[in-house]
Amino acid sequence: MAEPQRRGESLPEDLATDDCLTSYTHIYSPDLLKDQVAFITGGGSGIGLRIAEIFMRHGCDTVIASRNLDKLREAAVKLSAVSGRRCIPLCVDVRQPESTAAAVDETLRELGRLDILINNAAGNFLCPAESLSFNAFKTVIEIDTMGTFNTSKVVYEKWFKNHGGNIVNISATLGYRGQGLQVHAGSAKAANDAMTKHLAVEWGPSGVRVNSVAPGPISGTEGFRRLGGPRGEAAGAFQSIPLQRAGNKTEMAHCTLFLASKASSYVTGSILVADGGSWLTAANDISMLLGYWSSEKKRDK
Ligand code: NAP
Repeated sequence: MAEPQRRGESLPEDLATDDCLTSYTHIYSPDLLKDQVAFITGGGSGIGLRIAEIFMRHGCDTVIASRNLDKLREAAVKLSAVSGRRCIPLCVDVRQPESTAAAVDETLRELGRLDILINNAAGNFLCPAESLSFNAFKTVIEIDTMGTFNTSKVVYEKWFKNHGGNIVNISATLGYRGQGLQVHAGSAKAANDAMTKHLAVEWGPSGVRVNSVAPGPISGTEGFRRLGGPRGEAAGAFQSIPLQRAGNKTEMAHCTLFLASKASSYVTGSILVADGGSWLTAANDISMLLGYWSSEKKRDK
């Protein structure tokens, strides 16, 4: 995808679709994750898929886990083809710990080890609190927050407790300033940021590091499309962001790779905000957001 590039800036390659990159330039050593194994929830689309690809291009085998097995199977074939590494697609609903437990058992049977867990699965949409059903709020908390806890606990008990490991949670900056129409996702991710610190404290002595990446608006993702990113981009809405553009999926994968690898060996309990400075300056005008939300609702009808 062609992002507007500025003086002194060199962006890593990306594509707007859920396809693998047609070219890739390593900025880390290609052996950084050699023969490691990563379990990536939501690894069949968007940011999670690109994380899987970049990890595999650094020598890692992966398990990509979510609900839609057809989508995962298609992604796994593409990922293995570009990287020459193994990718196992497994059906998991992170709300159900037993489905994650079965997938982790399968991972250990097939790949023999587990080094990295990426908690990336999430649900998101725009909705004012007044119109948000009790069930919708609960579902987002169940997927984003409870799903992160469930998966972390299963992986810790089954492997990390005795072997160490790295957990990276994919967060968001929505809660920092109470972003309008996002009470569900903002609350869920704020809880996850606390969880990152709690688990870093409790599991550090077992050799487990726990960190987060908090992306800003990231092009070529479902989240970006649903949250009006492409239209905002065309209307120049990103001019108010310090770096004046959306981020790309490969940039998020590079941040995640840093935290998941020995490049960050003395880092735990940290949240790496990767948003071009967006949360500092982005609009949080409730009348404007409500206007956008109601026009999208009319379009959906
Ligand atoms: P996405 O493509 O929709 O990714 C979400 C993934 O989660 C999907 O692959 C989905 O797969 C999986 N998932 C949803 N519910 C699940 C469940 N119950 N169990 C297991 N897997 C489940 O969206 P994305 O934009 O790349 O988002 C990835 C992460 O980045 C999320 O944590 C999101 O909050 C965060 N983020 C994104 C942006 C952005 O601009 N895109 C900004 C800030 C933060 P299935 O449908 O197959 O289950």
